[in-house]
Amino acid sequence: MSRNAESTAFRSALEVIRAVEPRVADAIGAELTDQRESLKLIASENYASPATLLAMGNWFSDKYAEGTVGRRFYAGCQNVDTVEALAAEHARELFGAAHAYVQPHSGIDANLVAFWAVLADRVESPALKKAQVRQVNDLTEADWFALRRELGNQRMLGMSLDAGGHLTHGFRPNISGKMFDQRSYGTDPATGLIDYDRVAEAAREFKPLILVGGYSAYPRKVNFRILREIADSVGATFMVDMAHFAGLVAGKVFTGDFDPVPHAHIVTTTTHKSLRGPRGGMVLCQPELADQVDRGCPMVLGGPLPHVMAAKAVALAEARRPDFADYAQRIVDNAQALAEGLLSRGAKLVTGGTDNHLVLIDVSGYGLTGRQAEQALLDSGIVTNRNSVPQDPNGAWYTSGIRIGTPALTTRGLGTAEMDQTAELIHTVLTQTTAGANADGTPSKAKYTLDPGLADKVARQATDLLATYPLYPGIDLS
Ligand SMILES: *Cc1c(COP(=O)(O)O)cnc(C)c1O
Repeated sequence: MSRNAESTAFRSALEVIRAVEPRVADAIGAELTDQRESLKLIASENYASPATLLAMGNWFSDKYAEGTVGRRFYAGCQNVDTVEALAAEHARELFGAAHAYVQPHSGIDANLVAFWAVLADRVESPALKKAQVRQVNDLTEADWFALRRELGNQRMLGMSLDAGGHLTHGFRPNISGKMFDQRSYGTDPATGLIDYDRVAEAAREFKPLILVGGYSAYPRKVNFRILREIADSVGATFMVDMAHFAGLVAGKVFTGDFDPVPHAHIVTTTTHKSLRGPRGGMVLCQPELADQVDRGCPMVLGGPLPHVMAAKAVALAEARRPDFADYAQRIVDNAQALAEGLLSRGAKLVTGGTDNHLVLIDVSGYGLTGRQAEQALLDSGIVTNRNSVPQDPNGAWYTSGIRIGTPALTTRGLGTAEMDQTAELIHTVLTQTTAGANADGTPSKAKYTLDPGLADKVARQATDLLATYPLYPGIDLS
């Protein structure tokens, strides 16, 4: 693809938008500038390709396409069928999955689709069979009432939030926690690693309907073969939410026991994190859950977004190319270089390192809360997010951790040498930041001081580091 074509495409698009609402065109342009200038270490973000971005901005957005490929509730869906079928085919081939459902609008939506597919398969279907009816509308009022209670009385076992689990894995503030009676498994306080014997024990005691694997802030591989065995031993459905690390599965960095797809009954993911596609979600499953998964819309999802499914097809096609495996390996190499760089300078890391795309710094070693560290780094042009560490004394708001990830910077082309320089910048900012005090003299969890001159200097060094690796080198909006 010529760089000229990319520039022309985006420049023309902005011209068309500018004619209607120039402030939107300006904001889009400003967003590109901001993204180009910041050292983006947010573990859940990435940069989608120009082809992926362009596939979203078109008339597919105008189409209603409730239903599935070839079975729509609306007429005229033949072109939506083409892109949805393509996206699903690429997903099946890429991940070696029996079935792929590409309609979810986000990771949270994908999880809801999965939960209700499992509930339908394991709770609703048996109830219909027992009542000898084909569908819920045929149940008596009494049977329907009983079924609704039964649906709301199921159990889920997932990874605890402070060990790196996700809010949608049965935690009370999320709808999943209102649907399920939830227990969680944590990590070993000494090593920070998942203790599979403890998971097995919790499963035996709690007997969940669903055992959930997957995380958003755990820096290590997870053995999905063992988790499947645990699920089988208690008759649970094994679900894996690979939202964060789908790119590492796609790129064959996680194989064998560490690839969730052959081991889980159902796998959910986002498409915009390490997978580097459009903002969206996806469900992969074993054949026996396929029909229930395909009912995701309108069960829990609004109408499909055909323009995003088109972009998913493009991004998944990209992920099937050999250079994506190289990209995935570089993500991990970079995360390990960043971890090494931080450790060698004296930082404290949860689990002492990483074997995926993310590193969790325990910033209590610097005498800071996650919130203070996050803001000080931001002042210095380094974009990260604060995150709980296991048994976090500062709670989920202030936290004691900083989560950093390499998928985005790796897309730009930064390598292990630049990761060491990045570690130096982070360490400099965190050692030079001091925690502040409240008016009454008690330690503040939010206030901090950092010499603005130093912050500026680091921000310039961060910009210099990025200068060699332009973001979207083919796009010139000037
Ligand atoms: C990011 C994430 C989600 C949510 O994805 P959204 O697209 O923001 O809805 C769900 N599960 C896990 C494990 C995640 O990391």
